[in-house]
Amino acid sequence: MNGFIEQKVSLEKCPALVLNADYRPLSYYPLSLWSWQDAIKSVFLDRVIIVSNYDREIRSPSLKMPLPSVIALKNYIVPVTKPSFTRFNVFLRDKFSCQYCGGNEELTFDHLLPRSKGGETNWSNVVTACSACNVKKGGKLLKFSGMQLNQYPYRPSTEDLHRNGKHFPPNYLHKSWMDYLYWDVELES
Ligand SMILES: [Zn+2]
Repeated sequence: MNGFIEQKVSLEKCPALVLNADYRPLSYYPLSLWSWQDAIKSVFLDRVIIVSNYDREIRSPSLKMPLPSVIALKNYIVPVTKPSFTRFNVFLRDKFSCQYCGGNEELTFDHLLPRSKGGETNWSNVVTACSACNVKKGGKLLKFSGMQLNQYPYRPSTEDLHRNGKHFPPNYLHKSWMDYLYWDVELES
């Protein structure tokens, strides 16, 4: 039954989850996914091992093979240890929540030490804040703002971001991916 449904889904909606050689996802957020074309290509280039397949086949005049749903790299890629300082990564470090009120609407950024007082735009001075809290704090120092900070800003490691990213999974997860995505979360809880 499931196979029947999958046959009708467009191939474009059947990406492969890409694992590192240690069988952990190359990246959690965004989740490391390759298009079916890239997945097939990497199989033929002998760069990956097929771990799991969709219940469907791809066919061409010279080829018939199951469509990979999970692949693992043969060569381990050392994860980037220093995540880049981007808007997205700051939000991810702060779990998409305002560091003053905990809200998650209209998120923007606040300079803990205001720019007008020499505060820099970097990991250790920028926090996620909702527009209301951002306006409320304005150019004040934290201690004069009457506001509480949930967590002092810091430079996260890739592991930190991976850990947070697991709380924000993409909308679509194929059942064959689950074994590789959440086992360590369950061990932590
Ligand atoms: Zn807020």
